Amino acid sequence: MAKTILLVEDEAAIREMIESALAHAGFNPLPAADAAEAERVMKQTRPDLILLDWMLPGVSGIELARRLRRDISTRELPIIMLTARCEEPDRVSGLEAGVDDYVGKPFSVRELIARIQAVLRRTAPRSETGPMEIEGLILDPSSHRVTAEGTPIKVGPTEFRMLRFFMGNRERVFTRSQLLDNVWGDNVYVEERTVDVHIRRLRKALAPFGYDKLVQTVHGTGYRFSTQTDS
Ligand code: CA
Repeated sequence: MAKTILLVEDEAAIREMIESALAHAGFNPLPAADAAEAERVMKQTRPDLILLDWMLPGVSGIELARRLRRDISTRELPIIMLTARCEEPDRVSGLEAGVDDYVGKPFSVRELIARIQAVLRRTAPRSETGPMEIEGLILDPSSHRVTAEGTPIKVGPTEFRMLRFFMGNRERVFTRSQLLDNVWGDNVYVEERTVDVHIRRLRKALAPFGYDKLVQTVHGTGYRFSTQTDS
């Protein structure tokens, strides 16, 4: 079935160009000119992914991304930001808002389609995988829930994927670059230091239950998920 892509872009010429490229690539595009229209469209149809322009009149793309992440019904929705702002602080604030990837303007249609496919692949639910458990910490891939001794733990979408990867690959040390490949995907152009941002967020989410100590820094190398405290 064709994946539905909500495209939020205020510049009509760019919007129409992307819309026809998406349709040509076999997607079902839903165009919107601003955040308000995007929210109206989402009340009718749930998209599989959102292509979101950063600079929009009224509510900005980044603010819309934050709203979507706060709402339980849209917090797992993959978001790719279209942006001419490629500076690191903006990328970090975007990642902190829960954005899955960036495509910088100007971009090639081929690159855009490849990035959409990569994000859809890595955010696809793996329902065949059963719950994973480590010392009372349970991650259920099918329900996207994390619990500690039965108490739900709130984690963002990236932290969820990171924790799932760690729980499936315990006791091994991974470099930031390996974590980027495995948690974000191969075709993602994010700085290695953004791994640290998400490690911090994951630890913060786990800290009230004492599981933050499982996410261990291996100095000069990267990170390891381990029940052993000696490093
Ligand atoms: Ca714009």
